Amino acid sequence: MQNVGVIGLGNMGRGMANSLRRGGMAVSGYDSLAGTRERLAGEGFTVHSGIADLCRAAQVLILSLPTAAIVETVITGPDGILAHGRAGMIIVDTSTSHPETSRRVAALLAAGGMGFIDAPVSGGPKGAMGGTMTMVMGGSPADIAKVEPVLSVMSAKRVHVGPVGAGHVTKIINNLLCAAHLLTGAEAMRLATEAGVEPERVMEGINAGSGRSGVTMVNFPTWIFNEAFDSGFTMKLMRKDVALGAQLMSELGLSMPMAGQTTRIWAESLATLPDEEDFNRIVSLQVASRKGKGQ
Ligand code: NAD
Repeated sequence: MQNVGVIGLGNMGRGMANSLRRGGMAVSGYDSLAGTRERLAGEGFTVHSGIADLCRAAQVLILSLPTAAIVETVITGPDGILAHGRAGMIIVDTSTSHPETSRRVAALLAAGGMGFIDAPVSGGPKGAMGGTMTMVMGGSPADIAKVEPVLSVMSAKRVHVGPVGAGHVTKIINNLLCAAHLLTGAEAMRLATEAGVEPERVMEGINAGSGRSGVTMVNFPTWIFNEAFDSGFTMKLMRKDVALGAQLMSELGLSMPMAGQTTRIWAESLATLPDEEDFNRIVSLQVASRKGKGQ
């Protein structure tokens, strides 16, 4: 039986811990919040109060943390994985993080005989809980092969896109596209309304044609038209991902008008859409501008 440790037991990490347990792994976990640790302990998981204890118990560590900076601290900090891990361990970072952070920590871990895979995910808390997430992975084929039994119970689809960092590059681009599609989708629905055609019917037509996207096929029918706005992915996290896109473009010296507009609108949304709101709420900016029509 594989001993797997999960660090970060929030919306995604908790689901992953459940999928791993269902898949026959011995799962233990750690979260910096005491309340979250208690909740998971209440669900029957072995929960440690520090990374040192977790490292003693696990051969594979799954990270599901909010930001690249936190990933770096958890790995390189005085109480982190570098200090307490052992040779042969593989660290799988499912957080949406920065490729440079991944490359930096992977090099440090390699010096200690530990492997690192960046494996950011799609599918939300539901996919994490159901083991149906998609992973885009950066890492060595040998490291990925070693943890294949673990990854296969967490995810339904995995794409190995290149060396360490390539997974996060892919995820950042994916989320930038999703962020842009939410904005263009909201404009499309406003155009439909102004043109006097029922938005849901227009969407059905688009989804049978070449204008469709993940946003038109999933987000609008699942969370937007019915005003559920309960995807489990927050404005805060999507703003972080869009900012990672802006950072990557700037580091590469790229000026991209469409991506630039997208990153500007998402950054400015902080003034009207609180961090804890569902990320699909970005479409309400279009409704707000419609209300302002003719002013
Ligand atoms: P979350 O905020 O619900 O969970 C993060 C957890 O990490 C929290 O429980 C927090 O207490 C814990 N944490 C913070 N600092 C820590 C530390 N130093 N040590 C240990 N634990 C710490 O976030 P989430 O929605 O689960 O997302 C996690 C990651 O997955 C993010 O990078 C996010 O961008 C990505 N992601 C989320 C979704 C989604 O739909 N929620 C989908 C795909 C990817």
